This record gives sequence, C-alpha cells and structure tokens, in this order.
Amino acid sequence: MHSTPTQSHYDVVIVGGAMMGSSTAWFLSDNPDFTGSVLVVERDPSYEKCSTTHTNSCMRQQFSGELNIRISQFAADFVKNLRTYMGGDERVPELGIRSFGYMYLADNPDFAQVLRDNQAVQHAAGAATQLMTPEQILQHYPFYNVDDIVLGSINLVDEGYWDGTAVFDWWRRSSRERGVEYVSNEVVAMQKNSAGNRVDSVTLASGEVIACGQLVNASGPRGARTARMAGLDIPVEPRKRYSWVFSAEKPLDRDLPLTIDPSGVHVRENGGGTYQCGGHSDIDPAVDYDDFAMDYSLWEQHVWPILATRIPQFEAIKVTHEWAGHYAYNVFDHNAIMGPHPEVENFIFLNGFSGHGLQQSPAMGRGTAEFLTYGEYRSLDMTPFHYQRIVDGRPYIEKAVI
Ligand SMILES: Cc1cc2nc3c(=O)[nH]c(=O)nc-3n(C[C@H](O)[C@H](O)[C@H](O)COP(=O)(O)OP(=O)(O)OC[C@H]3O[C@@H](n4cnc5c(N)ncnc54)[C@H](O)[C@@H]3O)c2cc1C
Repeated sequence: MHSTPTQSHYDVVIVGGAMMGSSTAWFLSDNPDFTGSVLVVERDPSYEKCSTTHTNSCMRQQFSGELNIRISQFAADFVKNLRTYMGGDERVPELGIRSFGYMYLADNPDFAQVLRDNQAVQHAAGAATQLMTPEQILQHYPFYNVDDIVLGSINLVDEGYWDGTAVFDWWRRSSRERGVEYVSNEVVAMQKNSAGNRVDSVTLASGEVIACGQLVNASGPRGARTARMAGLDIPVEPRKRYSWVFSAEKPLDRDLPLTIDPSGVHVRENGGGTYQCGGHSDIDPAVDYDDFAMDYSLWEQHVWPILATRIPQFEAIKVTHEWAGHYAYNVFDHNAIMGPHPEVENFIFLNGFSGHGLQQSPAMGRGTAEFLTYGEYRSLDMTPFHYQRIVDGRPYIEKAVI
C-alpha cells in the first residue's frame, strides 16, 4: 500500500529511508540552520530486503585510509553518546560497543606488510591497533589454529558489535517527530530542467509528481538504478553476501573477535554460545535486485571447513539462522560515493558502502546534511568521496574491505 506526500514540493527529497537516508534526514532535522522541508520515500517500509537489516552491525577502526578511520571514530562517539546527541531525551537508550575487536589474520608476508602499513595510518589517527605474532595470538586466544599465520592485527578500543537497529529506529522516530515526512512509495522516474543540470521533480509509483530542491540517492544496492533515472551512472552493483548464525557444542571460553580469516570468511561472537559468520562465493557477480536465494552448498563445502580449520572447537556446530543480503559494492575503488554530480548539481550521491555503511552512517548523514545546508562540509571534509573522482578516473582506494 502506497502512502502519498502531503505537499507537492519539498526542499529535499531522499530516495531510500534505511540507514543512510534516515541518518541524513535526522541530521537535517537536528540542524537549526536548515529550515527546509524533507520527504523520505521508501519503497519497502518493512525494510526486509535492504542492506541495513542484513548487517553484521559491527564497527572497526582498522581501515587503510585516514578518513574512513575518522568516520568510524565519529560512529563510536555517536553511538556511545546517542542520548546526548538526541538532546538528552530520556526515551533514547544508552548504548555501548562490545569491543571484542576485529582480528585480521595474515598468512603471507605481503599481507602482513599491508597490516603493518595500515597500523601506522591507524596509530597516526589515534586508533589502538596492535600487531600480534602467532605466539601472542595464541597467548590471548588459545582456540585459534595459527599454523599458517605470520601476523595478526587487532584493536580492542571502540571496535566490535553495536546496536545499529536502535540507532536506525531513533533516527526515524526523532526525524518524524521533528517534521520529516516518510512515505511508503517508490521513486520510479525523474524529470530534469531544460538545461539538464537539475532534477526538477520525481514521479512516485502511485503517480504523483513531487518537485524537489535537492535530491539524495540513498537507495543502497539499487543506487545505480536510481541514478539512471536522472541519466547518471555509478559503478555500484548489488553483490550477494551470506550470513550464518550457529551454536557451538563447546562454546569458546572468551569473546571471539570478529576474525577475518585470510580466505575472507569472517566470524564473530554473537553471545550465549552462538556466533555469526559471513562469506561469499569466489564467483561474485552482480545479482538481480530481488535475488536473495541462499547457496546452501557454500556453507558445507567452503565456509564450515575453513571455520573448523581455523578454530578446531568449531567442528561441532549447528546453524540456527542463515540469510543472503546485498552489498552496494563500488567496483571502482571500494569507497563511498557522495556529494553532488558535477553537472546535475542538485543530485546528491550517498552510495557504494559495501560492508561498512552501517558504521559510516552517522558521519555520512552528518556530512550530507551539512552539504545540503551550507554547500560545504563543516566537520569532516568528505570531498575525497565526491563523484568527480569517477569522472576523472582517480580511484580513492580503501584496501581494508571485508
Ligand atoms: C551481510 C552484510 C553484513 C554487513 N555488515 C556490516 C557491518 O558489520 N558494519 C557495517 O558498518 N556495515 C555492514 N554492512 C553494510 C551496511 O549494512 C550497509 O552499507 C548499510 O546498511 C547501507 O545503508 P543504505 O541506507 O545505504 O542502504 P539500504 O539499507 O539497502 O537501504 C536502501 C533503501 O532504499 C530503498 N529504495 C531503493 N530504491 C528506492 C526507490 N526507487 N524508491 C524508494 N525507495 C527505494 C530500499 O527499499 C532500501 O530500504 C553489511 C551489509 C551486509 C549485506
């Protein structure tokens, strides 16, 4: 069932009301200098298929680029001070981060060097990343098999699980209370002005044409489809990522860090003797927007053998939940694409977050709201993420993509 907007014009129309769209809407509603109207159009208000509800809900500071580290540091600050950011509202929960850390494991000298180089960037940005020899890893985490490991890297400060759902819920609730309008509808077309340098209006699936001052593409894995409505291209594809939750017959005696095996399979503590694991197949094509079919052979033939080799105690485990979700994967340089299109200047991107968009959402929403309000960034400078780099063929590479 579609719901329809109460007005025929909004200063900002946001296409997609999940984590990125709602963060942007909330930061706009929180900025006294922004006095405009905001419409969020969400095609599936159950959020059943979006990336946000398929996530691992973890944050890390182990990135290769300083800006991505700063973005996650703001996420940690925002999550730990959610109530304060929400004006001290006592209904807002106090949240923490379960800082079990991400444990990157290198099984060859080249990757070990990448971990060392990344640690230097992370230290300079104030992150507490520690490198560990295999012996040190065993001392702290005796359950790992480190026979093939040359180096590990972990950060136990503000790195681990957080309650993304609570933040998402509060962004929506608080935005609505402050006047942002959410509608259950789909943007199906866009109309540009005669010069072709602005989007004048969007057409909704229910037929209404809604004029917009500025438009934000926060449509996740469907980002390229939304951009095409304005005649624009972005190198973002839906890529399938599988998750499994399992219980262990013999649970580990301490928290399991979010462990990134050299194979790419990753697994983390989930509480109560259960663990959450993620992976994808070696053949990793763009998939249909509605293709969420599980590949059941992947667990048996690929993932479980890797887990049981890395953590022999995981030979006796039982899968209790499994699902497939989509990354909005930026094939150009694995980094976010944000800011305005250089020619269609009121079309603002917020796309391509792969597997780290949940933690980036506070900084991305804040930055986008600043750009919409002032035409510039006032906190973190996000211009390295701007679309212009794609036009120029200048990748801004993030090496630490899971
Ligand atoms: C398996 C998995 C694990 C992950 N783990 C982590 C993690 O541990 N940490 C982390 O930081 N990130 C993680 N991520 C990434 C993170 O979940 C995403 O980057 C983030 O949720 C992206 O939010 P979004 O709002 O951009 O996209 P989405 O959540 O996909 O939302 C886009 C919304 O736009 C709507 N939409 C699309 N087109 C239209 C249209 N034309 N009209 C109206 N509405 C439209 C969709 O219905 C959808 O609700 C993970 C992702 C996956 C898949």
